[in-house]
Amino acid sequence: ITFADLKLNATLVKTITDAGYVSPTPVQMQSIPAALEGHDLLVSAQTGSGKTAAFLLPALEKLQARSDKPGKGPRVLVLTPTRELAQQIEKNAQIYGENMKWLRTVTLVGGTSFGYQTRALNRPIDIIVATPGRLMDHMRQGRIDFSRLEMLILDEADRMLDMGFVDDIETIVAATPDDRQTLLFSATLDGIVGNIARKITNEPQSIEI
Ligand code: AMP
Repeated sequence: ITFADLKLNATLVKTITDAGYVSPTPVQMQSIPAALEGHDLLVSAQTGSGKTAAFLLPALEKLQARSDKPGKGPRVLVLTPTRELAQQIEKNAQIYGENMKWLRTVTLVGGTSFGYQTRALNRPIDIIVATPGRLMDHMRQGRIDFSRLEMLILDEADRMLDMGFVDDIETIVAATPDDRQTLLFSATLDGIVGNIARKITNEPQSIEI
């Protein structure tokens, strides 16, 4: 199996091949085609499984189609528990989006100044990568317009809940359009995370690695 077999477009296949990826990992093999078909996904996958590309590649594929909605708000939102993970995800988005020169990503995390983030939010955005707390700070100031949002991704959902972000996540999800596509990744889908996962997805496909 190659990345081309997963129905990714030729530009993305070339970019990831140039980045040194030879074949997709199991989580990528299962998640990418289902996400490209537009399904919501509940994926149980560990760190190191290649899950970041499993959600970023379908997101980038989606962004290559022009938005039919006006405005400058994000088309893709990635929520992740920590600043380090957010920065890693944005870095990977830039690697996989190397040949999409127009791609605009913004990372919203705590521990850094609001000024730079706020200026970035005043320009058109394709992808926001955020930790829930800092995203909520910007939302409370009315700085985020989710009317163009097409895809919501929750990375390490179980860790976000363990860190006490459950109310923030519910508030953020409620602010996004109902017709979005939702991809949820978590080490486990048992207990509370499973309940929330089912609440925020629509006829999801479950993928267990
Ligand atoms: P992740 O689980 O997303 O944190 O990815 C773990 C590591 O595997 C990262 O350093 C990725 O760059 C790398 N990686 C992801 N997918 C592939 C692939 N298909 N082939 C080779 N390396 C990969």
